[in-house]
Amino acid sequence: MQVEVAIVGAGLAGLSCARRLTELGVSCAVFEAANRVGGRVATDEVDGFLLDRGFQVLLDSYPEAKRALDLTAMGCRAFAPGALVRHSGRFWRIVDPWRAPMRGLATLRAPFVSLRDGTRMASLRGRALKQSAKRDGRSTEELLRDIGFSASLRESFFRPFFGGVTLDATLATPAWYFLALFGWFARGNAVLPARGMRAIPEALAAALPGSSLHFTEAVEVAAPGSLMLARGRRVSCRAVVLATDAASAARLLGSREEPKWLGTTTLYYGAERSPVGEPILVLDGEGGADRGRGPVNHLCVLSDAQPTYAPPGSALISVSVLGVPPAPDSALDADVRAQLRGWYGSVVGNWKLLRVDRIERALPRLCTPAQGGSGGLQRPDPKDIFVCGDHVATPSIQGALESGRLTAERVRIALGPA
Ligand SMILES: Cc1cc2nc3c(=O)[nH]c(=O)nc-3n(C[C@H](O)[C@H](O)[C@H](O)COP(=O)(O)OP(=O)(O)OC[C@H]3O[C@@H](n4cnc5c(N)ncnc54)[C@H](O)[C@@H]3O)c2cc1C
Repeated sequence: MQVEVAIVGAGLAGLSCARRLTELGVSCAVFEAANRVGGRVATDEVDGFLLDRGFQVLLDSYPEAKRALDLTAMGCRAFAPGALVRHSGRFWRIVDPWRAPMRGLATLRAPFVSLRDGTRMASLRGRALKQSAKRDGRSTEELLRDIGFSASLRESFFRPFFGGVTLDATLATPAWYFLALFGWFARGNAVLPARGMRAIPEALAAALPGSSLHFTEAVEVAAPGSLMLARGRRVSCRAVVLATDAASAARLLGSREEPKWLGTTTLYYGAERSPVGEPILVLDGEGGADRGRGPVNHLCVLSDAQPTYAPPGSALISVSVLGVPPAPDSALDADVRAQLRGWYGSVVGNWKLLRVDRIERALPRLCTPAQGGSGGLQRPDPKDIFVCGDHVATPSIQGALESGRLTAERVRIALGPA
C-alpha cells in the first residue's frame, strides 16, 4: 500500500493532524489499532445514560477547540463557573468575582478564604490572562506558596480543584501549565457535548475523507518511509507521524524509557433526583483520603449540565477519585457512599452504581525540569519520524489537538513544494 503521509493513531492528535493535512491539500491515511476513533476520549451508552470513559470535560476557551470544533452544532452545554466546596460540614460557593460579582463576594464568607486571598486571586487572574507565563521551573505548589495564598485556601480549593484537573493532588505540575489552565477557566466554561465526549473525535473524523481511516490496524514497526502493520501489510509513504500515546510511541521508537502516567477512577451513579440541583463541580475541601474522610476528590451531576446524559426523570452523578485504588469496586463504592452520606444524607443509599472506570494511564505526567521532565516543551521530532500527542505538548484535549495541527504543518514543510 502506498500513501503520502501515514499517521499511527486516531486519537485527538492523529485526527487533528489528519484534518490539517487534508486542509493543506496533503493526502494521508490513519492506522488505528482500535475499532473506533477517539483514543482516550470515548463514550458508552449504558441503560440510557451516557458514560464517558472517565470523567472528562472540554473547555470552550481552549484555542484549538475554537479553531477545530463547532461547539454549537455539537450541542455543548456548560457547567457554571467556580465550585461548591465541602468544608466544615457545609457547602461554600467559590466563584470568580469578575464573572459573577455578587456570588464572587459570597466567596469571602467561606472560612478557608482570607481577605488577602481575595487580592492575591486578583493578581493571579491578571497573570494567567496575560498568557505569558515564564517556564521558570516552579511547580504549582511552589507558585501558590510564593504568591502567598493561605494554607487553608490551598488545601480546600486549589488542591482538590487543580489536583482534579491535572490528576495530581501533590500539585507538582509545572506552574506555567497551571497558569495556562487558570487562564482558560477564567475565560470560558467547562462544557459537555450532547452526544458525550465522543462527539469531539467524531466531529474531527467527519471532516476527513472516509477512506483515510483504517481501523483494527495496529502498527508493529514504524521506520522512515514505511510502516509494518500487525496483520502483515507494509505501507510505504513519504512521511510517518506517530500520534499514539506516550508508551506506544516509546515502544515504536525503540526507547527503553517508561513514560510516567497519572491515573484516575470514576464511579457513575444513576439517581432519581440530582443531589446538587445545579451544573457545578463539588469539591471535597476537608482533606480527602489523606485525612481519612473518604476517597472522593470531586463530584458533579453531569445531567444537570447536559440533560442528554441521563434518561428523562433521572440524574447521572459522576464521582472522581484520584489515582486507581487497589480496593475492589464493592469496597470503593462503600467508602464513596459513606463519605457522601455525610454530604447528602441517606438518599445516597438509593443511588444505583452504573460503572466504575479505573484508568491507570489517563494523563502523561508533565514534570518540571527539577523533576527530570521536559516541562512539556515540544521535543524535536526524531529523525524522519514525526511525533505528536498530548505527551509532547500538554496533557489535555488542547495539547493533543494543537500538537496534531502543528505536526501537520511541519510535515507539509518537510514534504517541500506540492
Ligand atoms: C479519564 C481521563 C480524563 C481526562 N480529562 C480531561 C479533561 O477534563 N480535559 C482535557 O482537556 N483533557 C482530559 N483528558 C486528557 C485527554 O483526553 C487526552 O490528553 C487526549 O485525549 C490525548 O489524545 P492523544 O491523541 O494524544 O492520545 P490517545 O487518545 O491516547 O490516542 C492515541 C491513539 O493511538 C492508538 N494507538 C496506539 N498504539 C498504536 C499502534 N501501535 N498502532 C495503531 N494505533 C495505535 C490508540 O489506540 C489511540 O487511539 C483526560 C483523559 C482521561 C483518560
